[in-house]
Amino acid sequence: MTTYTAAKVFTGAGPKEFCSAFTIEDGMFTWVGEAEGVDAATVDGEVVTLGEATVLPGLLDVHTHPSFMATLADSMALLQPLVVTRAGLVKQLRCHPGLGAGPDVWVMGFGYNEDNYPDGAPTRHTLDEVSTTQPVFARRADGHTAVCNTFALQLAGISAQTPDPPYGQIVRDQAGDPTGLLVEPDAVDLVYQLRPAPDRDEVVRRLVGLNEHFLSLGLVSINDLYGNFIVDPLATYRDAERSGYLPSTGVFLAYPAGELPRLTDQDRMGRMRIAGVKVFMDGAFSNRTAWVDEPYPGTESHGIVTASDEELRTAVAWARGNQVQCAVHVMGDRGINHLMDLFEDEAPWMGELPSIRFDHSTLFTAEMMQRANRARMNFGIVTHTVFFFAEYDSYVKNLGPRQFDIAYPIRTLYDNVDHLALSSDAPATAWSTCDDPFLSVKAAVTRTAYTGDQINAKEAVTVGEALHLYTGKAAQVSVFRDVGVITAGYEGSFIVVDRDPFTIDPSELDEVKVMQTWIRGERVY
Ligand SMILES: [Zn+2]
Repeated sequence: MTTYTAAKVFTGAGPKEFCSAFTIEDGMFTWVGEAEGVDAATVDGEVVTLGEATVLPGLLDVHTHPSFMATLADSMALLQPLVVTRAGLVKQLRCHPGLGAGPDVWVMGFGYNEDNYPDGAPTRHTLDEVSTTQPVFARRADGHTAVCNTFALQLAGISAQTPDPPYGQIVRDQAGDPTGLLVEPDAVDLVYQLRPAPDRDEVVRRLVGLNEHFLSLGLVSINDLYGNFIVDPLATYRDAERSGYLPSTGVFLAYPAGELPRLTDQDRMGRMRIAGVKVFMDGAFSNRTAWVDEPYPGTESHGIVTASDEELRTAVAWARGNQVQCAVHVMGDRGINHLMDLFEDEAPWMGELPSIRFDHSTLFTAEMMQRANRARMNFGIVTHTVFFFAEYDSYVKNLGPRQFDIAYPIRTLYDNVDHLALSSDAPATAWSTCDDPFLSVKAAVTRTAYTGDQINAKEAVTVGEALHLYTGKAAQVSVFRDVGVITAGYEGSFIVVDRDPFTIDPSELDEVKVMQTWIRGERVY
């Protein structure tokens, strides 16, 4: 048994819950209280003094993509602020170590955002400047769009005659020739599936290699919202765990990637487990494909729908039958309302946990919140403040004033909705440090984009509320229930940060550094 004392301990149980001492035994918190009166003479076991430090529970990121990160280990980062022009994109891709290694070696990059490239959006001709004799492929920051060179198009057999796949678009020029731009996964995968995938051992090594990344950000428990970036995801995560991978990880399987398996109790247990199924029902705001009520400014388009009602029902039925969550990628208000039309009267199946998650949930009115609360179904909302921080330009361009007013309404959601979490969607967010929770906290508190512009200042929350959405609140959305709160009976995981986030100037919040990360009573960072 070890007792820890610190100047200030945020417990994560609520926005204003603090203590100054706690005890961990066999990896679990067993007592929480005040440091006063705690000394080596009066308590059993060891006493560890964390001194003037501020302590928080281990943080959760309930929408991130470690398996995607593992596949990107051989891709160049094209994120802002690293790459801000089309010429810069070419320059960065030319640094790929595989360039010049022959026609079987792919030159890949990820995370570009052409919205404010002064020299225009990249096409196959841009990537032909990188190579005409090797496949060159760059995925956009949102993950839904990619651009490839002429060589890669030819490899995939894509020509002017190739029809669009059911839920994707091969973008064409005025002559009808493919521009190299592929929109939505169905189209992107026509090319992407041809790249040589790393073998299991290599993927395991890459996952273990992510420890440092997650633990340095204080993240001890995460959800992988698209496990199918790797083959046999659960078995691979469990191999990685045996090799030292540490964050507890709930894996969502993609619908309908192959046949969804029948889950066993084993699959739903342990620190690596299947958490649910993930369905995409609309696109993104960056390319005006999120499904919205009010048409995109200057158009009659309401965006697109990427799953039929029957597919949504099948995914929900699978989740119900297998006792896991159904997470739906949905950004637009029309999409969210449509999901409520379909499922609000059905019985939930996950007990206290949301059975159906609305992941992203960009546009949300107070009316929609009331509707979600009234529903028989237990809905959860997983959203992001780092989206408007990093992708402000795209929201300015693609949202009308009424939509702007209901974009990421964290204050109103926090006050009205039980199941709510903040998360990063890394690495599908156009910012190189997008999954630093303190960047999201800063955006939630200041409502400021990277440009310095404000978005909906009335929707600001306090530091305690924002951290609550990364700790105790996030745990009520995730399948790992005994994390995110410093309280007896929960996993003894906590972090020590280098300054007090509750008293510093909010403009400094993204400079908070994690000094120590502890999982189940062991210091792991
Ligand atoms: Zn995602």
